[in-house]
Amino acid sequence: MKITVVGTGYVGLVTGTCLAETGNEVICVDIDAEKVKQMQSGIVPIYEPHLDVIFDRNIKAGRLTFTTSLDEGLDHGEIIFLALPTPEDEDGSADLRYVLGVSEEIGKKIKSYKVIVDKSTVPVGTAEKVRATIAKNASCDFDVVSNPEFLREGFAVDDFLKPERIVVGSSSEKATALMQKLYKPFVRSGNPIIIMDEKSAELTKYASNSFLATKITFMNEIANYCEAVGADVDKVRVGMGTDSRIGKRFLFPGIGYGGSCFPKDVKALQKAGRDSNYEFKILDSVIRVNEGQKIILLPKIDAHFKGDLKGKKIAIWGLAFKPETDDIREAPSLYLMKGLLERGASLQVFDPEAMPNIQKRFGNTLDYASGMYEALDGADALLICTEWSIFRTPNLVKVKQLLQQPVIFDGRNLYDTNDMQEAGFNYVSIGRTEIK
Ligand code: NAD
Repeated sequence: MKITVVGTGYVGLVTGTCLAETGNEVICVDIDAEKVKQMQSGIVPIYEPHLDVIFDRNIKAGRLTFTTSLDEGLDHGEIIFLALPTPEDEDGSADLRYVLGVSEEIGKKIKSYKVIVDKSTVPVGTAEKVRATIAKNASCDFDVVSNPEFLREGFAVDDFLKPERIVVGSSSEKATALMQKLYKPFVRSGNPIIIMDEKSAELTKYASNSFLATKITFMNEIANYCEAVGADVDKVRVGMGTDSRIGKRFLFPGIGYGGSCFPKDVKALQKAGRDSNYEFKILDSVIRVNEGQKIILLPKIDAHFKGDLKGKKIAIWGLAFKPETDDIREAPSLYLMKGLLERGASLQVFDPEAMPNIQKRFGNTLDYASGMYEALDGADALLICTEWSIFRTPNLVKVKQLLQQPVIFDGRNLYDTNDMQEAGFNYVSIGRTEIK
């Protein structure tokens, strides 16, 4: 099939590449000329495990091409995916300017039947708005489909190629049939393509992300309470997770959720609720608790240094909002770094993939270490913000030697508290007793 993907970020590029992998002819359109130039010369502009191999293979096979020209894209595809940003607007709602802006252009430019597929995360009612925007100018038939994306950064290729489910919201039989044909190769193991109305599809995505953010936040509150009463959240987590109604996943406490999706999607659902006179009381709490959780280690760091961080050097391991991505959008590390810099500390940081993005934002205000141990050199403490695998079993003797003081603030509970006691660290983590 002939496919066009508009917007080649984490979602669009993975979508385009994976659809090419099953034999479709895909053109990816992006307004970022620099990015398009990179991709045309075979460079993947983001870090996403396993993407480079299939990207390369499909470019070489001539099934995957890139352009800045929306006209070219619209001439090519019978199915047009919109994988455009829907960032948080000032009032918390999802900013639809990219989605509706491109829809306006589509209306003016399409010359034959097209299925416009909204893959961006958008509020209930957006498919209707997209349809109305296109219809203002369109001189031919078209359908609009809501097809929210559930891939996770860091596992995006796997998630796209082997989805647990695909949600298709459509009121058109013709468009639904085309979507089923397109996705058939991805659900050979029997995972479902769930067909529903557009509004329900749009809400499914917000409901899923808000539920996951709530699960994380609930565990963070349990962790905070564990500290207050001397319980161990790791034990509570395992005890809870073995109940199949609860499940083991998403129960790990830490320094809050971040990233390009959960924070904005929870706020967008809260705002959308308000606009329909529905108050999401749970989401109000989730947002409030998470704001505090992102900086929950700051008072502990203050307490350790008796309120005086001026001139102290803090090493940081992990800057991305989660492992296996270079994405730093809304990463808890950003909030902790801001707080530490405001207190006069200097920061020596390391992340396996996110350093270029951090450098773009922080410039010379940070020291960028060449490796995890280099970041520790002469530091007064280590702060861990992201649970990259390489931080899980460090050489603790070396860590102790390199640090001025053997102090670790661990926002991801990477280590066993007994091990840290034995190794002679002052170890502060989340929801567990401090090791002094
Ligand atoms: P992104 O910011 O990584 O990428 C968006 C791309 O769109 C950029 O390359 C940008 O240059 C391009 N763009 C902007 N305006 C354009 C225009 N007018 N024409 C062509 N290209 C244009 O965004 P993302 O993370 O891929 O997210 C896209 C959507 O998917 C959002 O709605 C997001 O909420 C949703 N989503 C994201 C994820 C994720 O893990 N990142 C997962 C599921 C859903």
